[in-house]
Amino acid sequence: MENKEVHDLIIIGGSAAATAAGIYAARRGLNFKIITKDFGGEVATSGEIGNWPGINKTDGITLAGQFKEHLRYYGVEPEEGVEVEKVLVEPDGSFLVKSNNGNYAAKTVIMTTGVHPRELGVTGEKEFRNKGVSYCTVCDGPLFAGKNVATVGGGNSALESALMLSDIASQVYVINKNAQFKGDQILIDNLNKKNNVKITYDASTTAIIGDQFVTSLKYNDSSGSEKEIKVDGIFVHIGMVPNSSLAPDETAKDQFGQIKVNANCETNVPGLYAAGDVTDTPHKQIVIAAGMGTCALLSAVNYLNRMK
Ligand SMILES: Cc1cc2nc3c(=O)[nH]c(=O)nc-3n(C[C@H](O)[C@H](O)[C@H](O)COP(=O)(O)OP(=O)(O)OC[C@H]3O[C@@H](n4cnc5c(N)ncnc54)[C@H](O)[C@@H]3O)c2cc1C
Repeated sequence: MENKEVHDLIIIGGSAAATAAGIYAARRGLNFKIITKDFGGEVATSGEIGNWPGINKTDGITLAGQFKEHLRYYGVEPEEGVEVEKVLVEPDGSFLVKSNNGNYAAKTVIMTTGVHPRELGVTGEKEFRNKGVSYCTVCDGPLFAGKNVATVGGGNSALESALMLSDIASQVYVINKNAQFKGDQILIDNLNKKNNVKITYDASTTAIIGDQFVTSLKYNDSSGSEKEIKVDGIFVHIGMVPNSSLAPDETAKDQFGQIKVNANCETNVPGLYAAGDVTDTPHKQIVIAAGMGTCALLSAVNYLNRMK
């Protein structure tokens, strides 16, 4: 499909930041589209949510559904299944958004593409993804009731994973490559109280073994000797990588690949904005992503108003 129409704005992504930007764009009467790989993003995988203002307690799937309903209320239907490969800056300063669904032309672009989990990069990891290897304990943890599982990682996300699994699984192994955890002390204290959790420090995962599904995990201990633990599930929580490679090559990023933005959610490329987890904002939360989506949209409107 070749879409020749030049939109005021293309919003890439379909989660908190994109929804907020989309609501404001619709209310401002912009000619725009929301294009996204899937709708809901990490919000939909967030499990219980108790910090979205105005709602005491909800869950990610419900909130993501409400986001879509809110867009529909303003007549906006996000285009799902659209994976953006690259955003190019045209000689006149406008943008060409190249995707698996053809090209989109736009005067401004807001990137809200979030992050994806960092992989271990060990043998068997790709082969057993979704066959015992998971990057989302909230999503997949309940599938391992009564089984033996491992969480790999040492930050808050790994600690939360192990805590959740300790209530579901029979035995939980925590494989931490560092000599101590980097997360919140309260989580560490709570984990240490669990009697079905075995923590191994200074341990680097070397391989994931299985037949049809995962059967074990191998790691090198602090002395360098290889150990093997029998597990049915492995939950990898070793950080996130921003989905920023599709940004124009001119886009400034920090050392982690996060898109640098200023307080107006402007990037260094005129007309290109970014919001939410894909940016170098230090705090990754739904309400922050939504606020940044709004900020990016209002900045894009200012830019459009000043175009010749
Ligand atoms: C397990 C877990 C629990 C969490 N719990 C909470 C919580 O309780 N409260 C809270 O405030 N925050 C929580 N968070 C953080 C919160 O989910 C994120 O801060 C928030 O989702 C960020 O929103 P976003 O709009 O920046 O991007 P995301 O939600 O990451 O969405 C990114 C969107 O971009 C799309 N996309 C990516 N690449 C492309 C591409 N190339 N082309 C097209 N589309 C693309 C994706 O399909 C997706 O729709 C949690 C996160 C996790 C992982």
